[in-house]
Amino acid sequence: MAAVTPNHSYDSGKTRSSSEQEHPLQARIHIPDDADDTNRAQTQTSHVICNGQEIKVHAIQTGTVAVKRSHLTNRTAHFLTPLKISIDKHFTDYMPIWVWVVEHPEGIILIDTGENAAVMTPGYFDPAGTLISKYNRRNLKFNISKDHEIGCQLRKLGIKKTGIKNVVLTHLHLDHTDGIKDFPNAEFIVNREELRNPSGHFPELVPDWFDPKKVTYKPKGADVFNQAYAITESEDMLLIPTPGHTEHHASVLFKTDAFDILFAGDVCYNQRQLIERDIPGINVNYKKSRKTYDNILSYAQRNKLIFLPSHDSNAAYRLNKTQFLK
Ligand SMILES: [Zn+2]
Repeated sequence: MAAVTPNHSYDSGKTRSSSEQEHPLQARIHIPDDADDTNRAQTQTSHVICNGQEIKVHAIQTGTVAVKRSHLTNRTAHFLTPLKISIDKHFTDYMPIWVWVVEHPEGIILIDTGENAAVMTPGYFDPAGTLISKYNRRNLKFNISKDHEIGCQLRKLGIKKTGIKNVVLTHLHLDHTDGIKDFPNAEFIVNREELRNPSGHFPELVPDWFDPKKVTYKPKGADVFNQAYAITESEDMLLIPTPGHTEHHASVLFKTDAFDILFAGDVCYNQRQLIERDIPGINVNYKKSRKTYDNILSYAQRNKLIFLPSHDSNAAYRLNKTQFLK
């Protein structure tokens, strides 16, 4: 998952309490009785209409992560938050780490790359320094196997890497970039400013060949978001600014023929947080996070929008059932 640094966060989705065990998502997916709750490879495929054509959108879970509860939400957030997280004894339940794969008519587009199994090894964070390594080991828990990795899961879906048009990164936290290694020949897209001023990014853990296309927003489209970068020529898939989690965090807005989908990265851990305006425990910029919340909620009032944060246990279900943000 993402590396967390003392002055910003990585994050995750929603806690899945035992009271939610009857959620329809779990009713619809066959899970053996003895399945480990932390190790379910829940990949779901949904169908949407794009430019008159039915296409597939895959929700691929690249393992799970748990964070401290005060990382998930912290109403007294301030500069001592990392200390508060460190002394917090309680972890959340494990949350998914989603990668989204859109079989767009112009080519397959990935949103983020998920986590990889190497994060389970004790010294994984060491290249980032002793303090960061200890902090992350103490405050993050992963459950990732080789089978969870995005490269492996794409193979199972029969998707060839050569068919991938772009890999879009919402930001540069570890749980969004650790699958980069699987796509040495793909064109990556990253917001230029995020690349220039990343937070919680460890270049030591990214392949040497990583050289993404640095894109700049244009002042048009995307409604309240004011600016956007068109990922596709048909301009139905836009990179839009959703800052707060990092200074230049971006999301991907996909305008299908019938409704819009927002692949929201780490705007928040889950849809409940957005609706209740509960800002996650650590953010680079709380003011920007609140403005981003306002923009998304405003957009959803005037457009049919499916909201999909990267760590929301119910995100794939909402996509599959076409459940809009209200
Ligand atoms: Zn993050």
